[in-house]
Amino acid sequence: MNGAAFFLAVNFIIAMCFGAVFVVVSTRSRSRTAALWFAAAFTVASLSSVCELLVAYAYLTKFWAICAFASVLGGMTLLRVGIGTLYGRKVAPVWAGCFLMTGICLDLLIYDLPRGTAAHAFSYQTPFALALLSSAAAIFSSTRRLAVDRALGYLLLATGLHFFAKASLAVIAGAGTTAKDYIGTNYALISQSSTAVLMVAVGLTLLSVLVLEIMADERSNSEKDALSGLANRRGFENGVKAAMALAPKAGHVVIICDLDHFKRINDTYGHHGGDLVIQAFSDLLQTSAAKNAVVGRIGGEEFAIFLPSTTLDMATLFAQALRGGTMGITVSALPSSFAVTASFGVAELAPGGDLAGAMRDADAALYEAKRSGRNRVRQARHIGSPQPKSIKAVK
Ligand code: GH3
Ligand code: MG
Ligand code: MG
Repeated sequence: MNGAAFFLAVNFIIAMCFGAVFVVVSTRSRSRTAALWFAAAFTVASLSSVCELLVAYAYLTKFWAICAFASVLGGMTLLRVGIGTLYGRKVAPVWAGCFLMTGICLDLLIYDLPRGTAAHAFSYQTPFALALLSSAAAIFSSTRRLAVDRALGYLLLATGLHFFAKASLAVIAGAGTTAKDYIGTNYALISQSSTAVLMVAVGLTLLSVLVLEIMADERSNSEKDALSGLANRRGFENGVKAAMALAPKAGHVVIICDLDHFKRINDTYGHHGGDLVIQAFSDLLQTSAAKNAVVGRIGGEEFAIFLPSTTLDMATLFAQALRGGTMGITVSALPSSFAVTASFGVAELAPGGDLAGAMRDADAALYEAKRSGRNRVRQARHIGSPQPKSIKAVK
């Protein structure tokens, strides 16, 4: 087995491995369809190595040569379809099919042209270059803007352009006079190895895109409360950290609220009825809060809202509006006589202050709201120094 044949065998194994890995990744990825397109792309492209070997060592040279070309171009077309799915720049299957068929017809037309001529070399390599450049363009024009996405775009751009470099090299260095000769040339060695390195880089970068997406989804799920769709305690704390980092010099406010006599709601309407009330209250909080607010369900029927760059009095007005809104909650599955109220504790966080302290203050104010009859808003107010605090009645 000569060097080029060895590379063909290695390329085949690598491409098949990528195909298998993309199938595995598809089982966990939200971009399942795209991952399966990538698996198909690498599997189809891997067949080109087998065809190239058959060109050199079997009969039906022309047939296998066309098959080798078709499997590489087919793989790249499938890659473009997958990238279109992943990056929201879909290509209609009919156009992808037309592109592939045009490429194959072009290869048939140029088959008998003398190899190593510019006409043959550029006609042969241009469809590959176009498929990859189109994939790069799909990424650059998409709304996904992570560093790894840009890296993939530039890599596809470089890989697309390298096919033109290969065409030039075929003209300069010669690519064998016939399809059968090709495998014995130094050009074949350079051509196969450079394409293999670039395609491995493309495969690994594509995998990184999908794996980073899976990791981001896992993280977001671990920070979300399944019943309400709000952040859970961990998500709330991380969200607050991020919001505080955006405005380190501003004062912020935390509101803690708790549904009143929720046990009674469960006792009267059952646990499912209670769940519906939690969902309706969560919707009220989420839709009422500003976009930059962080809203979380931090306990059974206990919620927290972090309002960045807000004053205590503004936040108290907001809590009063929420209190009114809570009394207006209706749940279609529950009788019209159903009513719910909530109590609120509001506390401020001085610039650079810590969330845990403000949560304790808000909790104390909430306790006071409960103690004074529920369906109330209470402020925790500084008197002189940061500690201790007094509670101010607002209703
Ligand atoms: P208070 O006005 O003092 O807050 O009284 P409460 O009854 O609301 O408070 P308590 O802490 O005594 O009871 C809270 C109840 O919330 C007890 C628990 O079974 C119920 N609960 C906690 N999580 C859930 C949930 O996810 N779904 C439902 N349906 N009930 C829950
Ligand atoms: Mg309660
Ligand atoms: Mg409670």
